[in-house]
Amino acid sequence: MIISFRAKAIIGIALIEAVLLSILIISVLSFLRDSNQQQLLRHAKTTTSTFAAMSADAIISHDLDRLQSSSISLCHNPGIVFVRIIDEQQRILIQSGSIEALQAPFVINADLNKTTSNVFNASQAIEAGGVKYGSVQIGFDISYLEATLSKAEHWSLGIAGLEMLLVALFSMTLGSYLTKQIAQFTQGAEDISRGNVGKQLRVKGRDEIAQATKAFNRMSLAIKESQDSLEDQVKTKTAELNQANNKLRHLLDEQSTLLDNQSVGIATVQDRKIVWCNPAFLNMMGYDSLDQLLGHSTRQFYLYEADFIDMAQAYQALADKHVLRRDFQFVRKDGRTIWVDLNGSRLPSEHQSLWVIVDVTARVEAQAALGRSEIKFRALFESTSEAIFLLDDNGLADCNQAALKIFGCQSKQQFCNITAADLSAPSQPCGSDSTPLLKQQFALAKQQGSLRFDWLCKRLDTGELFPAEVLLSLVQYDGQTQLLASVWDVSERVAMMQEIEQQAKTDYLTGLCNRRAFIAFAERELEHARRYKKPLAILAIDIDFFKKINDNYGHNVGDLTLQKFADVCNEVLRESDLLGRIGGEEFAILLPETDAHQAQEISERLRKSLSDCRVTLPDTAVSIHFTVSIGITLFAGGTTDIDDLLNRADTALYLAKNNGRDQVVMGEFVAGL
Ligand code: GH3
Ligand code: MG
Ligand code: MG
Repeated sequence: MIISFRAKAIIGIALIEAVLLSILIISVLSFLRDSNQQQLLRHAKTTTSTFAAMSADAIISHDLDRLQSSSISLCHNPGIVFVRIIDEQQRILIQSGSIEALQAPFVINADLNKTTSNVFNASQAIEAGGVKYGSVQIGFDISYLEATLSKAEHWSLGIAGLEMLLVALFSMTLGSYLTKQIAQFTQGAEDISRGNVGKQLRVKGRDEIAQATKAFNRMSLAIKESQDSLEDQVKTKTAELNQANNKLRHLLDEQSTLLDNQSVGIATVQDRKIVWCNPAFLNMMGYDSLDQLLGHSTRQFYLYEADFIDMAQAYQALADKHVLRRDFQFVRKDGRTIWVDLNGSRLPSEHQSLWVIVDVTARVEAQAALGRSEIKFRALFESTSEAIFLLDDNGLADCNQAALKIFGCQSKQQFCNITAADLSAPSQPCGSDSTPLLKQQFALAKQQGSLRFDWLCKRLDTGELFPAEVLLSLVQYDGQTQLLASVWDVSERVAMMQEIEQQAKTDYLTGLCNRRAFIAFAERELEHARRYKKPLAILAIDIDFFKKINDNYGHNVGDLTLQKFADVCNEVLRESDLLGRIGGEEFAILLPETDAHQAQEISERLRKSLSDCRVTLPDTAVSIHFTVSIGITLFAGGTTDIDDLLNRADTALYLAKNNGRDQVVMGEFVAGL
């Protein structure tokens, strides 16, 4: 049920009015009742008190006639119904007034509202000098009060009814006025909604309705203006859209040509069934025409059911994102399997998806082959005993187990965090610093493709240096040009070589330099002395009658004698002096920076020491002694060589032998440097 705005206004205002008037009437009547009661109570109190005071004298003087006449005259008062005086024993002394009222039981009334009859009973004690003589009982007529209140009620209700009627009439008039204005707004809005924009309503007066009408008119004009500009915009946009449409059609034509000629397969799919595909896809899968695939499930392409099921999730994900699935195996019509990458996206306006299918068989097979060769390479890489590691632009990239072992490294990770210089001695035997030299070697290896060189390496754990042979080869790895380093620890070989070298220079019996080593060393010393103009002495020593020692005590004792000779010489000579065995029991000594006098002195000391020493025969307490003869020559400048000096020392030795042995002879030499 639709209640009109006017009806709502009338009902609303009438209800408010009714509530307000009810409150007003109830308040007024209540006030009237209260004020009448107060007045009655005061009147009753005054009348009973006055009459009681007046009656006291008459009772004391037993003048009951006066009392009777006073009560009769009181009863003549229109508001008094009866008067009665009783003594203390409740005996009636006098009474007058309405018989009916006098016969009714006397109950004192305190509240007018609780009075059930039209008589209000009041009582007052009669006292004089503190003695109680009885009490006065008076009945007051209250019927007029009820009549007055009833009249007031009737008038109030009449006035209220009239006012409500007037208010209803006023609300109806106001409601109709407002409804008319609203009807005008409604009509205006409907006109605008039908397209009659710009409609203007009549403005009357200057009240709020007039303000609202003006605002409506402004709104109507604004709508008209925006509609006009919108129409212009729509026209422009339509023209632009037509242009874009033409462009799009052109692009679609181009795209269609492109899709047909793509080398990658393209297919559109709906509900996992082929809707369309390009010739490249037909060719890839071994089909001749689209009809052979149209409407067919894509299941037939998948080699494995699991892949087909797995792709179902990818289809679901298509709604939110682009989907890429790598390396699936598809089956061609002829049964041959191929590897494909699937790249899918949802078509915007249809329930279809577009799939780009790339045949990656060649790549996958190449990767597999690469994987196999990688495994082989790894096996070789790890099984070899030589250290192998890769060097890229950032340093050490990978290494085998042997590298960790040889370089005393704990893990590949640790190995890859150090530099090649960390694996090298600070400097190399040639005297160069390792770091710059290493850079040169790397550059050379890159230039030549490979490089082999000796290198002094360093262990990471102990810092111990060891010689190695290094082979650097340029390799292609992980798409980068890298250097593959193979390192062989050649410590043992070098030690062996050094031993061989040492053996080649040393006399096995005495541990002294042999003839060749002595001459080589002496030549360097001679050159040094020549350059720095320093003197140098050469001594030739021969054990006297050595043959006899051999003959008398055996070859073994001869050997012991030779060793004893070497020991004593090493004790007497300086560190810088060089002693060599240049024949069976013939020795030579080179004394650097030694002049004739010093040479003579050292030779004498040596001769004496050797003469004083004893060779103890094995397994006996017997010891023998031997003497030596020494020939001295000096280098004091000139172009002479070692052979010449040795010959001259020999000549001096020969003289010493001839002179009786066990002596030192200074040979000839040219003095002055
Ligand atoms: P002198 O020099 O005083 O004239 O007499 P000699 O007896 O020492 O002279 P000679 O040069 O004739 O003898 C050298 C001997 O040294 C000959 C050789 O058998 C012996 N001889 C050489 N080499 C060794 C060796 O390594 N061990 C031993 N036990 N004897 C050696
Ligand atoms: Mg001799
Ligand atoms: Mg000799």
